[in-house]
Amino acid sequence: MNLLNTNASNTKILKTQTGTDYLIASLSMMPNSIICPARDIAECSVDCLVSAGRGQMNSVARARQSKSDFWGNDQAQFLETLTQEIAAFIRKCEKQQKRAAFRLNTISDIAWEKYGIPQMFPQALFYDYTKLAARLNRTPENYKLMFSYSAAPAYQNQVNKALKTSAPISAVFRGGMPKTFLNRIVIDGDKSDLINLNSGPVIVGLKLKGGKAIQASKSPFIIDNPDLNSCPAKALAQCNPQNLATAGLGYVQDRQLQGAA
Ligand code: SF4
Repeated sequence: MNLLNTNASNTKILKTQTGTDYLIASLSMMPNSIICPARDIAECSVDCLVSAGRGQMNSVARARQSKSDFWGNDQAQFLETLTQEIAAFIRKCEKQQKRAAFRLNTISDIAWEKYGIPQMFPQALFYDYTKLAARLNRTPENYKLMFSYSAAPAYQNQVNKALKTSAPISAVFRGGMPKTFLNRIVIDGDKSDLINLNSGPVIVGLKLKGGKAIQASKSPFIIDNPDLNSCPAKALAQCNPQNLATAGLGYVQDRQLQGAA
């Protein structure tokens, strides 16, 4: 069993590497509370990306489960296999005159820096999303992290800690993206993770994707576009500048407040 996916079959990874000098290898495991320690406080396990796209296929789910079992049963051997595969992928990239990048927590949140993985390969780029604010600003130079938002009440300590750093914070929005969120500018995070991870203290806005079930989800991991809540047409830029706020009685009251005759 290979741990790494080296053929960019994940849509976001393919989008991210297209048109760049990078080839990206990824590791997808089956989430559980050991490899995703914050999943209970973030309340993200129900709508986790684990069941998105290819994750619905039994064979994919079985392969991910085998990798999580391997990690749970023999961490030393797992790390040995992983380092061999990383080294082989770097050699492959070098032959193709490409740079190697790795996303090892596609659907997990393991602190790879504690196991010395990115430190072992300073020539490669590592990047991930995390729900553990304590990991931010503590990774080596070649391991970039983005924080992943949830509105779950028990998770707000993590969010507040992350907001004190300059790490990008990703948030999943339903109904389009607002211009700002948590007093930070929102960028379109669906284009490329290479752009996202170098964007500094912004909100990496991700559009909620998927069918009816996820669109109706009440998960705190999914944020209803706050611009839509305040004024749906405003978010769609369909407001007439001469809107009804200044019409009729509103116009008279406004003029009186301004001291106009
Ligand atoms: S931490 Fe991420 S990968 Fe883990 S359960 Fe939550 S959303 Fe899924």
